[in-house]
Amino acid sequence: MSQLASLSEAPPDAAFALIDAYKADRSPLKVDLSPGFYRDEDARPWILPSAKQELLNDPIADHEHLPILGHAELLDSAQRLVFDTTPEDANTIASIQTIAGTGANHLGALFLAKAIRPRTVWISDPTWINHEEIWKLADPDIERQKYPYFNKEILDLDFEGAMSTLSSMTGEGDVVILHGCAHNPTGRDFTKEQWKAIAGICEQKRLIPFFDLAYQGFATGDLDEDAWSIRYFFRNTSLEMLVAQSFSKNFGLYGERIGGLHVVCRTDDTRTKVVNMLTRLSRAEITTCPINGSKIVAKVLGNKELKAQWQRDLLHMSDRMRTMRQMLVDGLRKRQTPGQWDHILTDVSYLHFKMHSLGIANTAEIGMFSMTSLQPNQIRILREEYHVYLLPSGRISMTGLTEHNVEYVTEAFHKVLL
Ligand code: PMP
Repeated sequence: MSQLASLSEAPPDAAFALIDAYKADRSPLKVDLSPGFYRDEDARPWILPSAKQELLNDPIADHEHLPILGHAELLDSAQRLVFDTTPEDANTIASIQTIAGTGANHLGALFLAKAIRPRTVWISDPTWINHEEIWKLADPDIERQKYPYFNKEILDLDFEGAMSTLSSMTGEGDVVILHGCAHNPTGRDFTKEQWKAIAGICEQKRLIPFFDLAYQGFATGDLDEDAWSIRYFFRNTSLEMLVAQSFSKNFGLYGERIGGLHVVCRTDDTRTKVVNMLTRLSRAEITTCPINGSKIVAKVLGNKELKAQWQRDLLHMSDRMRTMRQMLVDGLRKRQTPGQWDHILTDVSYLHFKMHSLGIANTAEIGMFSMTSLQPNQIRILREEYHVYLLPSGRISMTGLTEHNVEYVTEAFHKVLL
């Protein structure tokens, strides 16, 4: 008698299922607008010149374990990258290496579930496809609630909705998931003034901010600008908070699974206890992290020339995504394609930063994602008739666009929308 035969079948993961369908498509016209991976000018994977495997061409390297907390130099540099920390700050933040951003989200959720048992976790609507599942797995008894973030009707940020829900419906000790920059899937972030208001609500209601930082440097090309929200919370509030950091996109190290979890503890004493708990949880789950990616990131972050090259690589990627946004919108405007498209554009970076610092409402999107109002039926026709793949939500990823295929894509959008 099988103990397993009664298992219910879960649907396949929407994002990975689409990647498989795209790979199986034999059409030379096919275009993949679904993935959360950077692609180069020919829609191929790009190995960052700063993060090449040859960097590790070390004849005496062995395959021994990392410590449970992870690669020490990597953790130091990773912490500085996020918080711009001084040596004194370092005693108040507990940091541990994780299995990329997903592992950092998971370990953070598990840690909070064990350490404080929050009643509710508040997740933006919409959000990264995995947040809900990660929290469900960490502790199904923690209630998962959505706060408004984006109005799909008008393709605009719903700041008032977010503020009103977070201020009226949350309780002390609730967790709020915030995207540090380049919100997935909308590509749309709070302005600096709006971030300050969100920080105020978190303090007033004694919430625990949990930042998901998957795109630092990759979003605007500027490492400091992309960490502004987190650094503001770190310096200007006394909140205990978490940051899940991923090096998948900004180093192009997707398959190496490299990231970190940082818990801002505010005191040395609390930090000791948090490090102890993180160590125990991580030991039970994975014992130690993969070593290869951590050596690459530690080497780049610890070397002046390599770090400068990395910053050039980040600019290269973010510039390409900006150009593709512009070409897509130009093509749609030229055809007078029905629908709203201007929100897809990114302001040129200096204007964008200036708008942020002046607190002017920012209507521009950054990073690789944008939301469209394409409907499920139109998305199906795009896939079946034009071999253009995008997620059922209408999210498009700019990295699948190239100078060679952008005309074809705009023409396909135009045809399904007429
Ligand atoms: N958080 C967000 C918001 C993401 O978009 C992603 C990747 N799509 C992740 C976390 C996970 O990243 P990783 O591949 O490093 O696990």
